[in-house]
Amino acid sequence: MLKFFNTLSRQVEEFHPIDKGKVRMYICGPTVWNFAHIGNFRTFVFGDILRRYLKFKGFELTHVMNLTDIDDRIINEAAARNISIDEFTAPFAQYFLEDFDALGNERPEIIPHATHHIPEMIDIISTLLANGHAYESEGSIYYRIAAFPEYGKLSKISFSGNKAGGSERIDTDKYDKEDARDFALWKLVDEDEQPGWDAPFGRGRPGWHIECSAMSMKYLGPTFDLHAGGMDLQFPHHENEIAQSEGATGKLFSKYWIHSEFLKIDDVTMSKSKGNFFTFRDLKEQGYSPLAIRYLLLSVPYRKQLNFTFEGLQGAETTIERLRNFRSIISDLKLAAGSNPEAVASVTKALADFETAMDDDLNTAAALAAVHDMVREINTIMANEGILADDQAAVLDAVAKFDSVLGIFGEEASVLLDHNIEALIAERQDARHNRDFARSDEIRDELAAKGIILEDTKDGVRWKRK
Ligand SMILES: [Zn+2]
Repeated sequence: MLKFFNTLSRQVEEFHPIDKGKVRMYICGPTVWNFAHIGNFRTFVFGDILRRYLKFKGFELTHVMNLTDIDDRIINEAAARNISIDEFTAPFAQYFLEDFDALGNERPEIIPHATHHIPEMIDIISTLLANGHAYESEGSIYYRIAAFPEYGKLSKISFSGNKAGGSERIDTDKYDKEDARDFALWKLVDEDEQPGWDAPFGRGRPGWHIECSAMSMKYLGPTFDLHAGGMDLQFPHHENEIAQSEGATGKLFSKYWIHSEFLKIDDVTMSKSKGNFFTFRDLKEQGYSPLAIRYLLLSVPYRKQLNFTFEGLQGAETTIERLRNFRSIISDLKLAAGSNPEAVASVTKALADFETAMDDDLNTAAALAAVHDMVREINTIMANEGILADDQAAVLDAVAKFDSVLGIFGEEASVLLDHNIEALIAERQDARHNRDFARSDEIRDELAAKGIILEDTKDGVRWKRK
């Protein structure tokens, strides 16, 4: 039975979608104003594992992930370049999706842009104004938290009086609000100011939180099954999404809430504001493979913090190579008919352990352990020449099942055998001889991406696997 830790109840709960067999899920997407860093991608790889495992369990899925293409940073960056916000965000949306794909993530069914859903946001704000959950102040529209007594039910942050408690991040808009906790739904802009949209309550632009309420409910309905995102979004973003959506509809917004933990570098949270971040592209340029980055990101269960180190990434590189070699060796075997009970038992146990681990709140570490156990046992059976044709098929089938969720084995044909490596090195030598340094560098990069390091010595080129 599939179980998740539901942030709303702070308990591990059995997962039962509202409509049997169908799951409607929303995951907050990126703000497309820069290259996403691997801390961001930890959340998106987690979202992909969640997505793939729901499909593995047989659910039909509608998965929405938004692109936030308007906020203050975007407006400022576009203004500084004297271009429109669309011109500024379009390339970053493209880069994000390229990196998202390269990391082996499946595209969600629906990827809406915030700026394409302004009328839906205006509708919700109009409803909130009409039913007293929102008010106007100096031309901007604010959410009235005092009108939503359940405010805080997700983050469990307790508020006393009119001030937000503790050092928690709150909306710090410097406008006149009835209550310091109230947040902007719609920000007034001048007649000729861009970007701006006309609304019955005045020309303006949306606040960030209203975007996700509008896009999720448009595609998934007022109540859906599952809302996920990074831990940093739990408060205030998700708390505010609940307040807006439930304030407008009077219905439960999302049944389950799932939050993935931070990625840290040397025990400090990776973030753009702290400057201690690597983008996916930084790591790729250093020769690390997308599969190894993905492996590292999913190797720690989503509710635990992941401490990023280059040793860890190097280890993931070696592990991926071992898994890929295993599959390639098994595929190439020419075997006699029949099956070995020992191999059958190993495969059966691995499949069962994998599912038990993933059912247990997506315990990816235990799921990977099940995969590695099978690889080790089958390697031993192979070494004793005990493997037969039916076992080969069963092992390959199990690998395909694991990988339908994990996505760590990669394309089948690209394992580099020694003679392919040597052929590429010879081609590189020829290219250098012909002063075709572009091709020579390209070959070096191609080999580096597959974990092959070249060393130019006076006796010629030596190579080794990382
Ligand atoms: Zn969101």
